[in-house]
Amino acid sequence: MNVEFSPELEAFRREVAEFFATAPTPAIREAGRKTTSVFAPFDQCMAWHQILYEKGWAAPHWPKEYGGTGWSVEQRFIFAEEYRKADLPPLLPQSLGMVGPLLIDLGTEEQKAKYLPPILKGQDFWAQGYSEPGSGSDLASLSCRAEADGDDYIINGSKIWTTYAHHANRMFMLVRTSTEGKKQAGITFLLLDRMDYPGMEVRPIYGLDGFPEQCEVFFDNVRVPQSGRVGEENQGWSVAKHLLKHERGGGNAASPTLMRYLERARAAACETSSPFGGMLADDPVFQRDFGELEADVTSLSHLEKLAISGHEIARDPAFPSMNKTINSELVQRASVMMSKVSGVGGLARQLEALRVGSNVEPQGSEFDLITMPLYLNSRATTIYAGSNEVQRDLIARSLAAGA
Ligand SMILES: Cc1cc2nc3c(=O)[nH]c(=O)nc-3n(C[C@H](O)[C@H](O)[C@H](O)COP(=O)(O)OP(=O)(O)OC[C@H]3O[C@@H](n4cnc5c(N)ncnc54)[C@H](O)[C@@H]3O)c2cc1C
Repeated sequence: MNVEFSPELEAFRREVAEFFATAPTPAIREAGRKTTSVFAPFDQCMAWHQILYEKGWAAPHWPKEYGGTGWSVEQRFIFAEEYRKADLPPLLPQSLGMVGPLLIDLGTEEQKAKYLPPILKGQDFWAQGYSEPGSGSDLASLSCRAEADGDDYIINGSKIWTTYAHHANRMFMLVRTSTEGKKQAGITFLLLDRMDYPGMEVRPIYGLDGFPEQCEVFFDNVRVPQSGRVGEENQGWSVAKHLLKHERGGGNAASPTLMRYLERARAAACETSSPFGGMLADDPVFQRDFGELEADVTSLSHLEKLAISGHEIARDPAFPSMNKTINSELVQRASVMMSKVSGVGGLARQLEALRVGSNVEPQGSEFDLITMPLYLNSRATTIYAGSNEVQRDLIARSLAAGA
């Protein structure tokens, strides 16, 4: 990929930047600046999704026939860069980034017709019901069961760490439909049309950062239609793994977000005194640490450019695990760097000031307001979507298989 963009691409960049400068409401902008997680504040995020949909830009990574943009690799990268420069809230990943691409690949025509348009329009938001207490890394041991009854399944059991289930109106999930043979062989992939079926209960869990981002979901004789099954009964393991490739490989470039964190840290360091005199940005130790991190983020950026340009590295079976591992560790390092810049300024717990629309003034700067929640929230990046220890095992196995 050519890193010097052509005049046409620079014109495209201006078009994107102009739209981002004018289309978002003040509340959407505030939500973007106050995003301290992969998950942006829900209401403003969905409002922004709908504005992007109207513009035809909600799903740049989807095939054009399903509502994607048909952009070139370079256009997609420019879009991601401008998006982060404008500090806009990221769209939520489960619908556009996971179940949407899965249905495009493996859904029936009825499922695609029913579920893809409301995902694209930002009308539906899906939760991901994979993990259970005791079944995270060892996902195949899951025990939430579904028994066939006429045209329905009856579900009993529970799910945990289900992100934003309290906001979702639909959910995709894995259920145990057989205990015969290998544990992977008795799993089925189901789409649920509602989150308020009789017998279904969602309970939010408060995270380290003070926000209820994850949930527990309980099922007590919940009756759901079998028409929501993706693939055959007991064959859901391969469907589940297919979705994980989208989750770990990602449809969007992560490096622009990381670059934006670094830009914000650099700007704050220019206004923060160093205990050794002058400004923190002039401190040689800060400059060394910052430079190392910036170099690693730049490497990820090049990897992403290779991957989205269709380079063979992205076809390597280990790529999603590699991408997930590098990206999640860089997010943590960037959040540490931001916390170092804030210092004690970031320590105050300011949940009310972080709320979009709050009239509580933050103590310190807006940068100080976000650094600690971002630091605490990002402790989880190396755990979710499959822990990095397990990803390293998968990479090693893939290398050994290719050796
Ligand atoms: C913030 C957050 C959001 C999440 N969102 C969702 C969601 O929306 N939907 C959903 O279904 N799930 C979600 N999860 C669950 C997530 O996928 C699991 O937490 C993850 O897969 C790890 O599983 P576990 O928590 O059971 O840890 P365990 O599997 O108990 O692992 C504990 C430790 O042991 C290590 N370990 C386990 N097995 C091995 C092995 N074979 N080799 C080496 N080390 C090993 C792990 O790496 C880890 O360090 C979320 C989790 C978090 C923290």
